[in-house]
Amino acid sequence: MYKKILVPIDGSEASLLGLQHAILLAKDQKAALRLLHVVYDYLVTEGRYGLGGSAELLKDLRESGQTILKDAASSARIQGVEADIESVEAPLGPVGAAIAEYAEQWPADLIVIGTHGRRGIRRLVMGSDAEYVVRTTLVPVLLVRGTKAAPKD
Ligand code: ADP
Repeated sequence: MYKKILVPIDGSEASLLGLQHAILLAKDQKAALRLLHVVYDYLVTEGRYGLGGSAELLKDLRESGQTILKDAASSARIQGVEADIESVEAPLGPVGAAIAEYAEQWPADLIVIGTHGRRGIRRLVMGSDAEYVVRTTLVPVLLVRGTKAAPKD
């Protein structure tokens, strides 16, 4: 049923747990697995580095994105799944829009995404990018909650 699975990865615990689900699904469904990183930094958009950040910062973000993607792909490979990696740039965000747009263009037939990312604000049901994707895309979404993001009432 699922032949093209997209996994947006920011290196957060929830996104890596999502990857584990996606690996199992890809094996079961004999699906293509694509890992997507959006080059973006919330510290930049919060203005901590000045508007738009510097060229140096952008270079660091690109490099750290590649590292996140390559680590995730090798984890998939060790588990018997060859994943493609892809990176898109949206330095000022929103990341959710970049993910939704990519998913529709590829086109993915499933997005596996974490409920939270690097900001991981626990009290929220889900992070803003996850919320954006769920709210806007026509592609089915599997949301995976990281243990650190579980709300404690
Ligand atoms: P938070 O607000 O806690 O950071 P987000 O909504 O940004 O949460 O993140 C939810 C999920 O969206 C992550 O687990 C990951 O799957 C995906 N995601 C977030 N940022 C990126 C990014 N820069 N590139 C790819 N995927 C991302």
